[in-house]
Amino acid sequence: MAASGGQELITVDRPEHPRLERDPEICETASADASGLAHVPDGLARPQTEGEVSELIRLAGAFGEPVTAQGLRSSTTGSSVAFEGVALSLEAMNRVLFVDPERRVARVEAGVNLGEFKRRLAEDGLFYPPDPTSENECTVGGTVATNASGSRSYRYGATRPWIRGIRVVTADGVTHDLSRVAARKNATGYFGLQDPIDLFIGSEGTLGIVTEVELTLLPAPPEPIAGFAFFQDWREAVRFVQTADASPTLSPRCLELFDRTALDLVRSEPGGNAIPDEAGAAISFEEEAGPEHEEDVVLRWIEALAEATPLADRAFLAQTNAEKLTLRTLRHAIPARMNEAGARVVRAGGRKISTDFAVPLVHLETMMEETYRLGAERFPGMVIGYGHVGSGHPHFNFLAEDPAMLETAEEMAMTLARRAIELGGTLSAEHGIGKVKAHLFRELYPEWMVGAMRAIKERLDPKWILAPGNLFEETR
Ligand SMILES: Cc1cc2nc3c(=O)[nH]c(=O)nc-3n(C[C@H](O)[C@H](O)[C@H](O)COP(=O)(O)OP(=O)(O)OC[C@H]3O[C@@H](n4cnc5c(N)ncnc54)[C@H](O)[C@@H]3O)c2cc1C
Repeated sequence: MAASGGQELITVDRPEHPRLERDPEICETASADASGLAHVPDGLARPQTEGEVSELIRLAGAFGEPVTAQGLRSSTTGSSVAFEGVALSLEAMNRVLFVDPERRVARVEAGVNLGEFKRRLAEDGLFYPPDPTSENECTVGGTVATNASGSRSYRYGATRPWIRGIRVVTADGVTHDLSRVAARKNATGYFGLQDPIDLFIGSEGTLGIVTEVELTLLPAPPEPIAGFAFFQDWREAVRFVQTADASPTLSPRCLELFDRTALDLVRSEPGGNAIPDEAGAAISFEEEAGPEHEEDVVLRWIEALAEATPLADRAFLAQTNAEKLTLRTLRHAIPARMNEAGARVVRAGGRKISTDFAVPLVHLETMMEETYRLGAERFPGMVIGYGHVGSGHPHFNFLAEDPAMLETAEEMAMTLARRAIELGGTLSAEHGIGKVKAHLFRELYPEWMVGAMRAIKERLDPKWILAPGNLFEETR
């Protein structure tokens, strides 16, 4: 209680939660994600239980302090950077609660590392399909919050269909235990709201903090064959992808592109020496075969490649698990090297701008043609194309080394996203909107649609304390 000019002012000291650190050095450890954006949060909360998450959120709500959830901060959109208020890391909530092989269901805390969890499942002959390239660097909760996907989403879809239930703490500190509606048919109102789980999946921390996730599992699939096929240029590679997608004899579970610049980036990585000098593009593919069908499946791929490219005989087929791992590591090295390059140019006012658009496969060649043309006409820096082309979803990275290049790259990203939407595609197929694409989201989608999403946010988080800046540029 304090007196001032005869008037009595009542000041309430803010009680600090024991799991909340304010030491700037500790807070700095939670300041950046893989986007190259960074900001030291005002505090770092590291709850160990759902009850603590709820107390922390109640306290934050009472004092109007924003809270941004963090998994392992592998986001490429700045979505896990807390530009206002505190960061809330789920890292310490990392218990696998149960795995039920009979029902093929598992329940985990949100901070469980996805890659570690999948390896544990594999030991029991079980399989959880979502496979973001970053699976060893992200949490299950983070993949739910972003509806992450990966190369095998070509066959199995993104994270959403594999989520049976979640526990989530909303901005009022209340915990909700949500299970997916199990009825086969549902005509109860607006689709996106019929099953509230779907509202939280992909909500990028803006509607609630996911504390537990219940997942659908599959029996481990037959051992896949895996290969890298080389092409003269990206066009030949994309045409092969369209052929493989429609083929009655091939059944790929992933089809991933690397353009010439991407190949050059990883030539010196382990396995990179298999890349022929004349290769202008590559497609990595996998098909589940099992030992009894392996030979037959390999022959069918060789036949299809022989019709598609004069470089068919340079294809590399992984024989052992170690070779398959090398191929996956090589694939992973591309975004990893580009994220590092992006982080290096931040100090000079630059950044890596990455597209995340997807288009129907039938328009992929047109979309890529226009992207390369725009890059050649307007962008003086490195342009690299790689990614999930089987799903019509290549990532183009523009390495902007200074503010002028950054402005050009941003304008190009806007043009390309607009074009992808015109062609029946989307602005973001997997990495989400976060902070770096919020302006594109506002600009490129109908006002009523963005407004309806804001209204849902307003209803669940009236003080806008959760993940400010994600999805919507304005924080209120
Ligand atoms: C090299 C590299 C490759 C990548 N490849 C892919 C890919 O193939 N596919 C893909 O989809 N993504 C990919 N990503 C992006 C990223 O890994 C995914 O978005 C991932 O799902 C983020 O998980 P995370 O645990 O790191 O979450 P964070 O990055 O910490 O957070 C991401 C978002 O989720 C929110 N969030 C995190 N945890 C919770 C929670 N428990 N409750 C509520 N909100 C939460 C955060 O607020 C933020 O909005 C890649 C990233 C890198 C660096």
